[in-house]
Amino acid sequence: MTVTPGAPGAIARYSFDVAVVGGGIAGLSAAVSAAEAGARPVLIEKAPRTGRGGNTRFADAQMRFPHEADEFGPRDYSVDQMFADLMRISRGRANEDLIRTLCENARATAEWLTGLGLEWEAGYPHTAGYRRSPKSGGQGLVDLLHRRLEGMGVPVSYETGALDLIVDEARRVRGVRCASPEGIVDIEASGGVVLACGGFQANVQMRVQHLGRFADSLILRGSRYNTGEGLMMAIAAGAQPAGQWGDYHSAVLDARSPRIECGVTALYNYQMGIFVDQEGRRFLDEGEDFRDHTYVKFSKHIVEQAGGEAWCLFDQQAYQREEFARAWRPVGPPLQAASLADLARQMGIPAENLLDTVGNFNAAIQPGDYDLDRLDGKRTLGIAPPKSNWALPLDQPPYVAIPVTGGITFTFGGLKCDISARVIDTRGHVMEGLYAAGETIGEIFYYNYPGASSVIRGAVFGRIAGAHAAGRSG
Ligand SMILES: Cc1cc2nc3c(=O)[nH]c(=O)nc-3n(C[C@H](O)[C@H](O)[C@H](O)COP(=O)(O)OP(=O)(O)OC[C@H]3O[C@@H](n4cnc5c(N)ncnc54)[C@H](O)[C@@H]3O)c2cc1C
Repeated sequence: MTVTPGAPGAIARYSFDVAVVGGGIAGLSAAVSAAEAGARPVLIEKAPRTGRGGNTRFADAQMRFPHEADEFGPRDYSVDQMFADLMRISRGRANEDLIRTLCENARATAEWLTGLGLEWEAGYPHTAGYRRSPKSGGQGLVDLLHRRLEGMGVPVSYETGALDLIVDEARRVRGVRCASPEGIVDIEASGGVVLACGGFQANVQMRVQHLGRFADSLILRGSRYNTGEGLMMAIAAGAQPAGQWGDYHSAVLDARSPRIECGVTALYNYQMGIFVDQEGRRFLDEGEDFRDHTYVKFSKHIVEQAGGEAWCLFDQQAYQREEFARAWRPVGPPLQAASLADLARQMGIPAENLLDTVGNFNAAIQPGDYDLDRLDGKRTLGIAPPKSNWALPLDQPPYVAIPVTGGITFTFGGLKCDISARVIDTRGHVMEGLYAAGETIGEIFYYNYPGASSVIRGAVFGRIAGAHAAGRSG
């Protein structure tokens, strides 16, 4: 259902140039860029002020973007490399035009954020040097952009959830109807509405409908407010759904994480050890690729194929490495034992299986140089599954075990958009006055996820959408 301009049912009507729905990185970037372009935007945020910032505030908000070698990483990263990485990891299915736009604008957008006062540091270790991390994390990024909005006098309407698009008789999007603390209000926007209100990861009904039965019990890593209304209201108005609606972003989480809004509780160090299932058997190639290219698919493997929970096992050779601690924020202490048999008893798995698994694994390791910064080819031979890189024996007690599971961060399905972030309808036509940005855009991620790509996606397309909508206003 959509609303027509001037329709009854609203207790108040407000007029702006641009209405931005959602205040994560995408919406904040859209609102700032619309205001910088001279328009009068409003930011509509469903959460209360204390819960503002969407998924973005829970994230470290690391970003990949093209750059030259610098103090944070020894290698150049080009637009073409980024493009190739994103296309390869989507198995060639991502929309080439959108990915090209993302890669070509990522560096300028990162510099724009720097210009607004963002300070950077190196990203997680062993991520091939392309990640950069805001020093203040996602929360700091959100606060920085809010300060910028405040400085430009842009109003933010908290506890205001968009319900429906306002569409005129010529099918142009004229604004958005919202549920606010005042009651139902209509916010008209001459330049357009930017939907930057996330995916449907916090909506259990949509999760089960699109992802499958298992998806009702997933740990929700980020915001409870991303419940899919932006997608549903756009589709109701004729927008074309696009991208991989049956897949999602996840991470290998400490299984003891809180069930909702747990934030960064992921293990980013599993490539230094092995995974075993509840029977004490390995079930995937932990060294298949860089961690940034495997954590999403491994987490889904654990949830969907390994019975929901598994264990990550290390010895002291891994556990004592300086980067081990940097790549894991413990939810609780790991299990530790002087022998594998004792560890198995604590884990509640058959000790003979664990001894057999580790014995076979250790015996299969081939000689070679161990180097976590490259695919070092230090591998196993003759066992299935293999470990293709970074295979060191687990033989230095005490042994360490951490329970792991998957979770959901955001959904991959979204709206069909062009490179100006304009939403496309089911006939293939631009929907005048309607934009999407961030998680609400489809056709960017498929099957898997190239680490550190979602915040930069939000910033790039948010900025583009805000500027474009500002250009239509007046
Ligand atoms: C723990 C964690 C770690 C992560 N780490 C990284 C990382 O390091 N690098 C990276 O690239 N990505 C990371 N991600 C993913 C990334 O943070 C998000 O995908 C990205 O920030 C999404 O930005 P967004 O603006 O599209 O959505 P969000 O930041 O989720 O913002 C959406 C906003 O819309 C609001 N909203 C929802 N519905 C409505 C409605 N009907 N009306 C009004 N407002 C509404 C929500 O309240 C929210 O504020 C991480 C995510 C999590 C949870």
